[in-house]
Amino acid sequence: MQTIQRKLSEKKHIALVAHDHRKADLLAWTKQNQAQLANHTLYATGTTGHLLNQETGLDIIQMISGPMGGDQQIGALISECKIDVLVFFWDPLNAVPHDPDVKALLRIASVWNIPMALNRATADFIFSSALIAQSTDIEIPDYQSYINARKIL
Ligand code: PGA
Repeated sequence: MQTIQRKLSEKKHIALVAHDHRKADLLAWTKQNQAQLANHTLYATGTTGHLLNQETGLDIIQMISGPMGGDQQIGALISECKIDVLVFFWDPLNAVPHDPDVKALLRIASVWNIPMALNRATADFIFSSALIAQSTDIEIPDYQSYINARKIL
């Protein structure tokens, strides 16, 4: 598929997700980056969002809980180009009941080429980049041209 440019504005839409054994880490990282995060629009899966909001006071648009469909809600927003950055502290050492949803979220974030941190080191790299506070372009699939060019019959 061809690609087109998508503009990410200075104020980004950032999704935050953490599995249960990684929530303390994400909370610590969020506190460390709270001043920066406050400049953006934040989204999170249900339990993660509730915890981060309670502990930091940050405004967070909360989906339902991950195992109940929250990962899929975040994935749907990504496919609609409504999320610019994903910070997902997933747990590589414990099984979760919604593993297919987790894989789907990782896949769709890759399809739409958004910056995606799956651990703290990468989240630190992304948030120490000048691009987090600047407008920048990413390449995304040119779905409209693809569908226009497709001959159904
Ligand atoms: P939670 O979901 O924030 O509701 O715990 C996260 C996840 O497991 O994907």
